[in-house]
Amino acid sequence: MSDLQELYQSLILDHSRKPRNFGELADADRRAEGRNPSCGDQVTVWLRLDGDTVADAHFVGTGCAISKASASLMTTAVKGKSRAEAAALFERFHDLVTGKAAAPAAGVADPALGRLAAFSGVSRFPARVKCASLPWHALKAALGEDGAVVSTE
Ligand code: ZN
Repeated sequence: MSDLQELYQSLILDHSRKPRNFGELADADRRAEGRNPSCGDQVTVWLRLDGDTVADAHFVGTGCAISKASASLMTTAVKGKSRAEAAALFERFHDLVTGKAAAPAAGVADPALGRLAAFSGVSRFPARVKCASLPWHALKAALGEDGAVVSTE
């Protein structure tokens, strides 16, 4: 295993064990739920928008380490981003985990992804793609309309 893969793996473990922004967001104005029946992951995402900006993002989730770590890193990544920027980040992330993005084998990941590049290895495990992208589907639903429920199935 390369140093980069080890770094990525420890980042995912850290965020699954100590998720950031975990807990209901009391002053949220958007909320969406996501379910991934194939793994049993469930996530609820809360957002507080300030105009067009994601001022705060929280989540509560149960499920596997990948889905939790993904939700944790996602909430840290989208804070301060505009709705369009958050949606664009979702596309980049989705390309990464589905293997459509340029291979980060040389250690050169898409700089726009930052620490989200930790999920690059997920593309080799098709069953885990839904786990990693579930929180993002919920985020997209929350940005689009209030009170949505999305499923990966
Ligand atoms: Zn999962």
